[in-house]
Amino acid sequence: MDGKKLPAGLHRDTLAVRTALAPSQHGENSEALYLTSGFVQTDAETAARRFASVEEGFTYGRTSNPTVTSFEQRLAAMEGTQAAIGASTGMGAILMMCMGLLKAGDHVICSRSVFGSTMNLFGREFGKFGVETTFVSQTDIAQWRAALRPTTKLLFAETPTNPLTDVCDIQALADLAHEAGALLAVDNCFCSPALQRPIEMGADLVIHSGTKYLDGQGRVMAGAICGPSKLIVDVFGPVVRTAGMTLSPFNAWVVLKGLETLGIRMQAQCANALAFAHWLEQHPAVTRVYYPGLQSHPQHQLAMRQQAGQGGAVVSFDVRGGDPATARANAFHVIDSTQVLSIATNLGDTKTIITHPATTSHGRLTEEQRQAAGIGQGLIRVAVGLEYITDIQDDLLRGLDTLP
Ligand SMILES: *Cc1c(COP(=O)(O)O)cnc(C)c1O
Repeated sequence: MDGKKLPAGLHRDTLAVRTALAPSQHGENSEALYLTSGFVQTDAETAARRFASVEEGFTYGRTSNPTVTSFEQRLAAMEGTQAAIGASTGMGAILMMCMGLLKAGDHVICSRSVFGSTMNLFGREFGKFGVETTFVSQTDIAQWRAALRPTTKLLFAETPTNPLTDVCDIQALADLAHEAGALLAVDNCFCSPALQRPIEMGADLVIHSGTKYLDGQGRVMAGAICGPSKLIVDVFGPVVRTAGMTLSPFNAWVVLKGLETLGIRMQAQCANALAFAHWLEQHPAVTRVYYPGLQSHPQHQLAMRQQAGQGGAVVSFDVRGGDPATARANAFHVIDSTQVLSIATNLGDTKTIITHPATTSHGRLTEEQRQAAGIGQGLIRVAVGLEYITDIQDDLLRGLDTLP
């Protein structure tokens, strides 16, 4: 599908606002929402050519839709990839990737710190189909190297991780994958292309949950894979057409418009998060702060290099409390004392969200697994939004200053 005619050499910020299919005959300035499941063909011969994929053109909504195509072209332009393909959710995108790339007998290496559902998809669901996954340390490249097998097809990472914001070296993982004849896929949900473009560091595929920063206002579910045309068009296109994890045009439209403000939202939310993290470090009830923008973060230098000098907008911290029960009671007290923040498990919203990972996102792990992952009962995650920073801090003080 041809995009709108734009001159070459435009800045990424311009592409984020302008990349789309050409407007319809009505000349709408804001991209149209094509809410239709099917497309009328001029004649049977044209329909036949389009269904046989020898001619470009829209046929049926499970395969493609102009609003979805505009979203895909815009996201690809922002990530710097040849192409992108939408999915119903972020997990739908990862499922599409696995269905397209893997078969029984193949091996995957995945960071131990990725999104919980991603771990279940690789470990449990694809395990049933004979795909074996080895989970390794997010930051110790030697473990990734040691896990390589002749059957390794895919390395999968997410950086920074949730909730502890560990950062992996994308270039080093890409080099390792390519030496072994495997692909590297990076889940770029936490940074978005506004901060981090994994393709420029050697990654082969970039995964998105559009539900998070791309939409940016917590409205719709969406996902995408960005990568080379030969994989997007020839491998993943047929998977979506057959398996149906299609992105809805309405959701694509919401996220398409969200992309226009992604850059300025990320800058503002990162600035809020950095100020918040520095402020937390000074509070006597806070024992540790996890944020890549802080000097105290173990991979601070790497994060600054990979993430355009920004730490992202997710900040986690431990509240004081000796034993696990006290730590949990203190964390709950801080969370329940807020009057402005949302107690929810989402992130990437303009509304600041506060979460207790040990009993929500990581609640199904055993206490031992949680300890190994470093997720204590006193840990609180804050996905910083766009409220005025002093109001966010004051909301936390209600609990931090009144701990027993
Ligand atoms: C939320 C999330 C996903 C899954 O996205 P959904 O749109 O909820 O399916 C995948 N990876 C990361 C890092 C996420 O935060």
